[in-house]
Amino acid sequence: MKKISILIPTYNEQEVLEHLYQRLGKLANDNRAYEFEFLFINDGSRDKTLEIIKGYAENDNRIAYVNLSRNFGKEIAMIAGLDHVTGDATVIIDADLQDPPELIPKMIKYWEEGYDDVYAKRNSRDGETWFKKVTSKLYYQILQKVTHIKIQKDTGDFRLLDRRCVEALKQIRESQRYTKGMFSWIGFEKKEITYDRDPRIAGTSKWNYLKLFNFAIDGITSFTTAPLRISSFVGFIVSVISFIYIVIVVIRTTLNGSDVAGYPSLMAAVLFLGGVQLLSLGIIGEYIGRIFNETKQRPLYFVEDYHSGKHVKKAR
Ligand code: UDP
Ligand code: MG
Repeated sequence: MKKISILIPTYNEQEVLEHLYQRLGKLANDNRAYEFEFLFINDGSRDKTLEIIKGYAENDNRIAYVNLSRNFGKEIAMIAGLDHVTGDATVIIDADLQDPPELIPKMIKYWEEGYDDVYAKRNSRDGETWFKKVTSKLYYQILQKVTHIKIQKDTGDFRLLDRRCVEALKQIRESQRYTKGMFSWIGFEKKEITYDRDPRIAGTSKWNYLKLFNFAIDGITSFTTAPLRISSFVGFIVSVISFIYIVIVVIRTTLNGSDVAGYPSLMAAVLFLGGVQLLSLGIIGEYIGRIFNETKQRPLYFVEDYHSGKHVKKAR
């Protein structure tokens, strides 16, 4: 019997777990041709999340969990999960039921047809603010332009991955992870299905705009060095313009003598160049920062405990 692992990164999700567990249980009951594993990654939750998961695991041997030593963020929680899944295929799903588990049988169907990565694209983004919608649209456009890999629009991490995709992703050990880009980068046969993204069922989103902004920067800097190119390009253009201006100033001074009044243009040039220089330094700094972080070669996460459902007796 083929085994499907459901990977669920969870951080402070005590309000939603009961709903999630019911929906997943129903999914498993409706698809008895497959064996299921529900792997929860407890990403350092500070509420009752871990206790609830442990409670489920006592009576249900489909439940497995990895308890991380602290909160590492969803990106790291996902790789921790991929390191521990045992299924022939893995579905990554959010705990808050924004990704409907009812879509999973459809994913499995395409997987059986030979696709390695069946990803779910959102039709609508109900329950998200217009600001988030607009910024995310704009961001994907920019990302698409500057990186050369095709990153799927309006697609989150909700997808089914064949074992070989999982093995490929496990080999990417960079610490500032942008998993969404990695799914594209590894390649393999992809299939798109669409769905309506529901609002979060309970609890609150763990994202804020600062996190989102940092994540956006990570997305660009981990997949392209285009910003470095752009700053070289801007530097080049500014140098050419400055050179022309210097020639003009020299000619004018030789013909008319010097006029002392030049304060505004001087100020403008100094400030503009200062700005361009700082910006370029910042961009270089971003990449040096990444080099610094990666050369440390730290482990991506630490596991406090791992429980796999296999050996647990059903009733005690
Ligand atoms: N999550 C996590 N670690 C974190 C933040 C979030 O594992 O540090 C999980 C969270 O429990 C949920 C998923 O990542 O299952 C998506 O988080 P959320 O719903 O807050 O993000 P949004 O849907 O608003 O983008
Ligand atoms: Mg959510």
